[in-house]
Amino acid sequence: MRRALLLITDMVAGHWVEGPKVPATGLPPPNVHDYMNAGLLPTFSNVRDNGVFAFTRNNRICNTPHGMRYLASGSYRAKASPLGNKLNWKFDEVAPIPTILDACKTSHPEGKVAAFGSDAWMQTGWWKARDCTMGWGSYYSDFLTSQYALNWMLNSPDWKMVLLYLAQYDVTGNCPVCKEGAAYMEDKHHSIQQLDKYLWIVKTFLEEKGWWDETGLFIASDHGCHVGCDVTVRNARKKGVPESDLPNYCDNHQSPHDCFVWDFEKNAATDIRCDGCRRTLFMIGGGALPAPHRGKIVEQAEIIDFAPTVAALMDIELETDGRSILS
Ligand SMILES: [Zn+2]
Ligand SMILES: [Zn+2]
Repeated sequence: MRRALLLITDMVAGHWVEGPKVPATGLPPPNVHDYMNAGLLPTFSNVRDNGVFAFTRNNRICNTPHGMRYLASGSYRAKASPLGNKLNWKFDEVAPIPTILDACKTSHPEGKVAAFGSDAWMQTGWWKARDCTMGWGSYYSDFLTSQYALNWMLNSPDWKMVLLYLAQYDVTGNCPVCKEGAAYMEDKHHSIQQLDKYLWIVKTFLEEKGWWDETGLFIASDHGCHVGCDVTVRNARKKGVPESDLPNYCDNHQSPHDCFVWDFEKNAATDIRCDGCRRTLFMIGGGALPAPHRGKIVEQAEIIDFAPTVAALMDIELETDGRSILS
């Protein structure tokens, strides 16, 4: 049986514009591509070397309600809007567009589909799954969420697709990029390395259960983050961040999503697009990935290519506006 594990990591930049370095680390702002190359994400690197890495962009709205939606549906259609309270969103549409989780159950009714993560996104239109959906309050422990998912899989050996959403990296924002001795969620530099450990747990679990060879592991993020852009510098100054700390500051700014690299020496914006929030993560690993695809780099993909790529590998019927990066 072929299976899919969808690992969704909130706010993780998949890659970055070439050039900028954070003085505190001597590295580019935290992003999976550059941190793999710096040897800091051994499990991500292992998955990449035996899988596919795609330089992917979210070309529309870079917040969580929309990013999750684009991932789930493979479409930029429909605008989400809040129903009053900030974490209570709905879509301005009459008929919900099918998601990859729904479509999996329809195409393969014999296999179980489950989702685990923040309850805000474990809803229709995002990650509601027909056989089991478990949601917790925002930023509930990634560790415990993972454990629930893995335990459910142990008890449901006929699982076909599992979505595991890790939210806590999204807590790091309006904070230093790197703080000495920081714990998970205190800065981005240490937190992104912690994600590598969660990936290790998931990968090792699949291997030890003998499921790795039949599983497609799809890793993605909804949006990236902001470091060293003109808007970040402006916001940080307003908040009173000292000038010397500006290059080491991560801002959670919303629009504009198209922001520009800041030149700290000249103390001016450049005309180079930073777009840290648009540079999302998209990787595929696992033994179910056919050999010809392994070790491939896809130079250009969009966030809406995630769902059709899962659909293609899993033989699922789903109409989307994206394309499979495996085709
Ligand atoms: Zn998000
Ligand atoms: Zn920015």
